[in-house]
Amino acid sequence: MSKNTWQLISEEETKKVFAYNEDYKKFLDIARTERLANQEIIKQAKENGFKDLEVVISNGGKISAGEKYFVNHKNKSVALIVVGKNPLEQGFNIVGAHIDSPRLDLKQNPIYEASGLVKLKTHYYGGVKKYQYTTIPLALHGVIYNKDGQQVVISIGDDENDPVFTVTDLLIHLSFDQQSKPMREALTGEQMNVLFGSIPLNDTEKDAVKANILKLIKEKYNLEEEDFRIAEIEVVPAGRSRDCGLDRSMVIAYGQDDRVCAYATMRAMFEVETPERTALGLFMDKEEIGSMGNTGMASYFWENLVHELISLEGDYCALKVNRALKNSKVLSADVSVAYDPDFADVVEPMNTAYIGNGIVLTKYTGSGGKSGSSDANAEFLNEVRQVFKAGEVVWQTGELGAVDKGGGGTIALLLAKYGAEVVDCGPAVLCMHAPMEVTSKADTYMSYKAYRTFLK
Ligand code: MN
Ligand code: MN
Repeated sequence: MSKNTWQLISEEETKKVFAYNEDYKKFLDIARTERLANQEIIKQAKENGFKDLEVVISNGGKISAGEKYFVNHKNKSVALIVVGKNPLEQGFNIVGAHIDSPRLDLKQNPIYEASGLVKLKTHYYGGVKKYQYTTIPLALHGVIYNKDGQQVVISIGDDENDPVFTVTDLLIHLSFDQQSKPMREALTGEQMNVLFGSIPLNDTEKDAVKANILKLIKEKYNLEEEDFRIAEIEVVPAGRSRDCGLDRSMVIAYGQDDRVCAYATMRAMFEVETPERTALGLFMDKEEIGSMGNTGMASYFWENLVHELISLEGDYCALKVNRALKNSKVLSADVSVAYDPDFADVVEPMNTAYIGNGIVLTKYTGSGGKSGSSDANAEFLNEVRQVFKAGEVVWQTGELGAVDKGGGGTIALLLAKYGAEVVDCGPAVLCMHAPMEVTSKADTYMSYKAYRTFLK
């Protein structure tokens, strides 16, 4: 049913596709964690004329059509707003993505020495195939507070002059037992320890390598072992985004679920000028672990923000907030599964999405009979199709796997509960949640084009 984008677009648009993806790769190389994505989105928003909404709130100011604002939510989530001409109670046009990705987090007591090796204990975050994290270069990013209460930013492994870290695996020669185990047990969560050092400190008997590592940490960062107990440090695959394929048609990179949609949403928001309906870009945290927590979509962040905006519009009334929420239209910007001919049995070929065939409209997600899904309404899908047609967006439909093969969810239902019209909509990804994920450059570009048309 769907067609290949490369055959549908002009030579001129093909150039735009490649140019867009150069910028996209740069974003991925900076936005390695939700904190770094938050920082980069706000930095670029400021460069594009967005102002801090908190300043207007604390000054008791007002907002009016055409103004552009950002909201920094606890350094982990972001909202971008372009105020429209219509009263807010008529609803927003929203594109909502998430900026957290699967990874390993350091535990609160991470550092230990065993047989002359220092390693760091981790607890994986989100859905990962644990064995995929072995024997690849890993980087550390995060924040940690020293005894004086000063924040120290940790970022090691993504600069090419930095050292990297790794999770070790067993040599094939002695893997007879390991290879007979089910894949999920071949490497346990407690074996996902990060190799961190091997030189002992002179004149030290017990845990001399750990002593040396702690000495280095003290010298370089003025941090002590105890400080790690209150730290937030993430371990992510190290290295840059790359072109994939001899024709350079694809991007291979860490964290494309869902920073591919976050980047497309950000770029789209930068091009919105005084829309009819207020445009809102949401960049949320914690989606990969169920959207809970105060920076996730299940928190009251969005709802509170709408209260603030209605108040800043003047003539505050709580009922207007409910109306604004109910009258909103949302593209839940998240990735979909791409057909992989080597794993064809988990999808149904007529209804799965294909790499290169455009942005994927996913009416429902869920598992076990759509359970846990926000099933989009035909009336809204009709609107979205017309928007895509007007914007010359190449699109296809998709579903998260064949019936009873598994499944998953997105933030869609969390916005739909207010009565807003919501549909999942984003590019298809090969090797989703792997340390390196693959997208088609045509699809990443079509996602940006789709969100831009929808927001405008
Ligand atoms: Mn996602
Ligand atoms: Mn995901």
